Amino acid sequence: MAIVKHRVTFIPGDGIGPEVAEATRRVLEATGVKFQWDTVIIGSQAQDKFGTPLPDQALQSIRKNKVALKGPVTTPIGTGFRSVNVALRQTLDLYACLRPYKVYPGMNTPFQDVDIVVVRENTEDLYAGIEFARDDSGTRQLLDFVLDTTGKKIRKDSAVSLKVISQTASRRIVKFAFEYARQNGRKKVTAVHKANILKFSDGLFLDTAREVAKEYNDIEFGDMLVDTTCMELVRKPQLFDVLVLPNFYGDFISELCAGLVGSMGIAPGANIGDEIAVFEPTHGSAPKYAGQNKANPMATMLSGVMMLRYLGEKDSADRLESAIAEVIAEGKDVTYDLKLDPATAVGTSQVADAVIEKLKR
Ligand code: NAD
Repeated sequence: MAIVKHRVTFIPGDGIGPEVAEATRRVLEATGVKFQWDTVIIGSQAQDKFGTPLPDQALQSIRKNKVALKGPVTTPIGTGFRSVNVALRQTLDLYACLRPYKVYPGMNTPFQDVDIVVVRENTEDLYAGIEFARDDSGTRQLLDFVLDTTGKKIRKDSAVSLKVISQTASRRIVKFAFEYARQNGRKKVTAVHKANILKFSDGLFLDTAREVAKEYNDIEFGDMLVDTTCMELVRKPQLFDVLVLPNFYGDFISELCAGLVGSMGIAPGANIGDEIAVFEPTHGSAPKYAGQNKANPMATMLSGVMMLRYLGEKDSADRLESAIAEVIAEGKDVTYDLKLDPATAVGTSQVADAVIEKLKR
């Protein structure tokens, strides 16, 4: 009987999730590392089956195994349940979102030497989910409170979302970024903010980052306004190393970086807490491609590479990353997003076949 080395919770997700997750499971097994997969569902599938998008059974499995591999999960826009992806991160206190972006040879992008790591705070900011709807009695009380305490009048027909930044969360995410930099031979951490306008919330994030930086004299520290960061990332991305950001800016800077490296289809990620880690791609469930064997599984595969490293399987991680890089460099067995001529693209499962072939050598 095969010896199981790692028990991992497997969350296929929805939309293109099941296809990219299955392709990833196959390449991970092809590395020779032994897994036992504990498959659970969340999102609308769980809503239909269990009456909740984030059932206890899924949370218990992740808490027990401490490691999960997750495909993307759709969030209804405007109405319906709040993002189950955000809820998962908050419930399990997966406070650090780690997203490495690098240009692999063969990628179709004008930017050649990009190697940026985004460290995004995952539990608060505008994602805290504290919102006040228009015409709600709570909203009216809030507007009265704001008028009483600041003298500022907010229009009566307003909805309000709270941006919450704490010293505690800022401190631990900045420490995470510096620790990551130190352990991975990185030279510089840049804190990204809008503290010129958001003096208290982003101001606290920046002050805290400056304090933490003093504990890491071996790593260079800098800070940059988020708008300037967008411009400089597009102008000179090679000047950036590790970026640490509050949750909201982390969302769109991540996508900007995915664009720099050539496709959302190769942008991996991990949500990491003190004891639990959930690995998932940066991209969403791309519903229009669901069930078509069309989506690029490499972002999820590269998230699998991060998972292997987290599990201490460094050699297998390096082998899998090299196999994926080779398939990208050859440019033959890749999906539409990596092709100049999409008519020559292969499907999700054929990419997995090609990566597995490379692993056999
Ligand atoms: P998306 O990332 O799903 O798709 C945007 C576009 O990017 C797609 O139309 C497609 O052109 C491209 N794309 C994304 N992934 C790709 C892949 N693997 N291969 C090739 N092309 C790819 O973003 P969206 O349309 O804004 O979101 C769709 C749903 O996903 C929403 O419900 C959103 O809330 C959800 N979402 C989930 C997660 C998560 O599970 N962590 C993250 C982001 C978005």
